[in-house]
Amino acid sequence: MKGYAMLKIGESGWIEKDRPECGPLDAICKPLAVAICTSDVHTLWEGAIGERHNMILGHECCAEVVEVGSLVKDFKPGDRVLVPAITPDWNSLEAQAGYSMHSGGMLAGWKFSNFKDGVFSEFFHVNDADGNLALLPSNIDPVDACMLSDMVPTGFHGVELADVQFGDTVLVIGIGPVGLMSVAGANMRGASRIIAVGTRPVCVEAARGYGAVDFISYKDGSIEDQVLAMTGGKGVDKVIVAGGGCETFESAVKALKPGGKIGNVNYLGSGTYVNIPRAEWGVGMGHKQINGGLMPGGRLRMEKLGALVSAGKLDVHPLVSHVFDGWEHLEEALFLMRDKPKDLIKPVVKIED
Ligand code: NAD
Ligand code: ZN
Repeated sequence: MKGYAMLKIGESGWIEKDRPECGPLDAICKPLAVAICTSDVHTLWEGAIGERHNMILGHECCAEVVEVGSLVKDFKPGDRVLVPAITPDWNSLEAQAGYSMHSGGMLAGWKFSNFKDGVFSEFFHVNDADGNLALLPSNIDPVDACMLSDMVPTGFHGVELADVQFGDTVLVIGIGPVGLMSVAGANMRGASRIIAVGTRPVCVEAARGYGAVDFISYKDGSIEDQVLAMTGGKGVDKVIVAGGGCETFESAVKALKPGGKIGNVNYLGSGTYVNIPRAEWGVGMGHKQINGGLMPGGRLRMEKLGALVSAGKLDVHPLVSHVFDGWEHLEEALFLMRDKPKDLIKPVVKIED
């Protein structure tokens, strides 16, 4: 089979590989549509998870099942499925402890394009099919369904990590597709005011549609000064970090009220330390919590988020700014994600109708 792989840090291309084997609990699927992620860019060009050779990239897709193992109960060939970017081993101790995304070790629930071949391939392997796949609701287009692999669950996890409550003022740092879903999730959770950090007109327009009311640019001075000016010096109740680098934590702590919470879902692709400002962290006693996490994957999460989209409560379509037709455009879509032209939010490649 053909797959689009990271050959080594900074180099990628199409390669031939054997089709993966299907274990008793597993499924083999073929993509119906795939999406490119900023994480693919961090992995391939920044070497953020280290060197990988001939590893097929990609972890966002919607797919059709082509084969299932002898012990799979709920899926069969021909089923159209939602596929989470994170596919935990549900019988692991980490999953039993409530941290399925770290099953097998830190971040090890993230298998596609990390520990094994990803989904930019004619066929790909899904471990624990009954625990990780979900049927694609019939009224969700496969292109939109790709947003359920990673963008919706990650953006919403930022909302969970920041513990957004009714009436909260929430700052969302970074309004790429993940941050946009954090805006949407914070709005659904009852935030009274959402301040978004970002300037690209397509993202600002989408963020407004998802519920952000105030906008600031990190290019116009420090985020914290602008937030404090907008909030009468009080700061915000919650901060969700979905963009920027290690330096954003300093701003997040400074912009937060005592007792506030930070939910980070940003992938810190470079740097060694995250600096926490001592005085604004209440000299260690400010009750300013900093949480950071990998999105939860798995079937239940996919079914619930799929139900939100299917019921018309969440429209993911505004995230999809570019749609390509056919594998031959995959590389173009990937390079677009790296180069981030102004009108880009998320590129998706349709494989078939
Ligand atoms: P993106 O690059 O499209 O969006 C990030 C946005 O942040 C961009 O618009 C950028 O202009 C903006 N930005 C850059 N510097 C900034 C700063 N200093 N302050 C504020 N904004 C700044 O990326 P995305 O696809 O939306 O993903 C966001 C992050 O989430 C990425 O790092 C991605 O790798 C990560 N991610 C994490 C998980 C997870 O499970 N935790 C899953 C998927 C993606
Ligand atoms: Zn992703």
